[in-house]
Amino acid sequence: MLDCIFCQIIQGQLPCARIYEDDRVLSFLDINPVARGHALVVPKRHYSTLFHIPPEDLEACIVAAKRVGAAVFKGVGASGLNVLQNNYRAAGQLIDHFHLHLIPRHAHDGFFTAWPGKPYPTGELDRILRKILPEV
Ligand code: 5GP
Ligand code: ZN
Repeated sequence: MLDCIFCQIIQGQLPCARIYEDDRVLSFLDINPVARGHALVVPKRHYSTLFHIPPEDLEACIVAAKRVGAAVFKGVGASGLNVLQNNYRAAGQLIDHFHLHLIPRHAHDGFFTAWPGKPYPTGELDRILRKILPEV
């Protein structure tokens, strides 16, 4: 994809702080980190979202995320790590080339402090489940 920033990084047309590379995957530091050591894992082929990437490249990404995530975790002395992946604008995706975020965490770092979960009203869980199951 000519106008894709990550494709340009993969092709060496734009610089990156490279952490790891193999046949299918490239990993590098995020240029605007939400934490020091925030890294990205991207497939070398262009797929826009989780719904487009085939199993082989997805597997390569998650295996690389484990390796790079462990290196980031150790390297920056983190006490936690989030693996995050955004699909479409409503979910915060800005770059339309599938990628995993590896975000090192520290106690009281103020990022994602409260998970905004709340229980379903009575009957709603079953209604939602019935909408999803036919799509699997
Ligand atoms: P998204 O919101 O699409 O899940 O995340 C895109 C990420 O890519 C952002 O965290 C942003 O900082 C990062 N990013 C955008 N452009 C560049 C770039 O040119 N180089 C690097 N290393 N990261 C980038
Ligand atoms: Zn791309």
